[in-house]
Amino acid sequence: MRAEIIAVGSELLTSARVETNSLFIAEKLSQCGIRVMRKFVVGDREAEIRGALLAALKDAEILIFTGGLGPTNDDITREVVSETLRRSLSLHSAILEDLKARYQRFGLRMTENNQRQAMVPEGAEPIDNTHGTAPGLFLKEGKALIFLLPGPPHELKPMMTNRVMDLIHQYKQTSRQFYRRLKVASEVESRVDFRIGSTYKSYPSIETTILASPGIIELFFCWVGEVNEQLAEQQLEELTRRVRDKLSESVFTDQELDLQEVIGQILRDSGKTLATAESCTGGLIGKMLTDVPGSSDYYRGGLVCYSDDLKVDLLGVNATTIERFGAVSEQVAYQMAVEIRKRARANLGLSVTGIAGPDGGTLEKPVGLVFVGLSSEQETGVKKLQFPGQRETIRLRASRFALDCVRRSLL
Ligand code: ATP
Ligand code: MG
Repeated sequence: MRAEIIAVGSELLTSARVETNSLFIAEKLSQCGIRVMRKFVVGDREAEIRGALLAALKDAEILIFTGGLGPTNDDITREVVSETLRRSLSLHSAILEDLKARYQRFGLRMTENNQRQAMVPEGAEPIDNTHGTAPGLFLKEGKALIFLLPGPPHELKPMMTNRVMDLIHQYKQTSRQFYRRLKVASEVESRVDFRIGSTYKSYPSIETTILASPGIIELFFCWVGEVNEQLAEQQLEELTRRVRDKLSESVFTDQELDLQEVIGQILRDSGKTLATAESCTGGLIGKMLTDVPGSSDYYRGGLVCYSDDLKVDLLGVNATTIERFGAVSEQVAYQMAVEIRKRARANLGLSVTGIAGPDGGTLEKPVGLVFVGLSSEQETGVKKLQFPGQRETIRLRASRFALDCVRRSLL
């Protein structure tokens, strides 16, 4: 089945924004055997949106728009699609009431502009947006199912996962896809491939994909053999078990979960609390931990001590230790972890100090050198790492590695 995607947004054509929605959409569709054959990225311009729509409609059975459903003047996807398909727009009273209630809740006055979001093309069905104001829209045109979804990724994702996939299953003959995923932390892609290559290669009916991002590797095993549920499930199960045996503790989940979500579960289950003292990661670890709703159950908080004197004044690191060994040192990471654990009255203290670059590196302490400390009531340890990459990558790798130390310590 042929699917196409049209991402609308002038910012997506500049270096200001990376277009990511189509990646998420393609992944969701592939899980039920639908392939994305083409995608368009167009600015917020009538001619381009219409051109892409007409081109896609020639062959696509599933066509997904993202972006341009908002209230501002540059958001014109709804209008252009309606005009091109010759469908009149009318005000949907239930959506309007919803919008009004939403604005009221936030103490905002609804303007004329906002009403546009309640306009629905003839024959279209609105799709609930639980994370924002603009509802999505679903319409059928010939053999094609057309979806208009909002641009913000956090609004699009739940709509895609739930209602859109349901509608596709309802109207199209989809094949259930058999697959497994494993997520791996604190490993290098080539080493993982080296260790499991001979294992997955012995399953010709399973396609293995290795997706690497800084500090995290995702393994995706997809059944591509004959349609035989029992055989597919059995072989996938066997392969993932063998891969897990090889990678053991490095596998942190077989679900669609982030590292911080898994760590949250482990901390909650073990009844332990965590506090952080960050230097080169500048609060990124605290941010990641608090991205998870309910993290106050186990995350006490943290200090970002970027300067040497704050490490001394706020955290209680020994000034002479910094003088002797430098702020980026095993000794300082050690004291940061111990002190934050005590001062925050947490069971675990996690610390990071390093050189994220691009400046500040020396022969002895090059850019990418990071010390991660973890302290519990029983013991304190420090790991010395040398991360590759640029500043952002180093900070992300360091944060994920540090979080993973917490996970491993609680296994
Ligand atoms: P809103 O009501 O927020 O205006 P919208 O449907 O009009 O919703 P846009 O205005 O197009 O959406 O985009 C809103 C935000 O989502 C912007 O920050 C934009 O950069 C981001 N965004 C839009 N499309 C994509 C995309 N395809 N990939 C990644 N980010 C996107
Ligand atoms: Mg917008």
